[in-house]
Order: sequence, then structure tokens, then C-alpha cells
Amino acid sequence: MAKCAWCGKKFNVSDTREEYDNYFEGLEYDDDYPDNNICLQCASTETSGNIGVGEEIMEDMGSHNWD
Ligand SMILES: [Zn+2]
Repeated sequence: MAKCAWCGKKFNVSDTREEYDNYFEGLEYDDDYPDNNICLQCASTETSGNIGVGEEIMEDMGSHNWD
């Protein structure tokens, strides 16, 4: 087991690599996190932010007036 450098959680590198590569088509965990020391949760949060997915979701939410 590896320990995430960001949140300190223990995680399985090969599972993380597999899920990351599946989730982010065209990206490789080994390319983005070559030290293999970031867990899936932190890596996907960071990568989503990098490619603007998180921001788009926030903008969608903000464009609705729920009142
Ligand atoms: Zn983490």
C-alpha cells in the first residue's frame, strides 16, 4: 500500500492507476502523477480542476435561480 502525499490515506497504486485511466480517457495516472503517491480521490479532484470540470459544474449550479 502507498500513502497519499496529500491526504495521508493509504491506497492501492495499481487499483488507482486502473480507475484513473478508465475515468479520464486519454490520461495516464503514471504521466500525471509519476511518483505514484497520490490517491484516486485527490488525483481525480486535482485533474478535474485542471481540465475545468469542477468549474463547469459550479457554473451550472450558479446559473439556476432556485428561489
Ligand atoms: Zn489523497
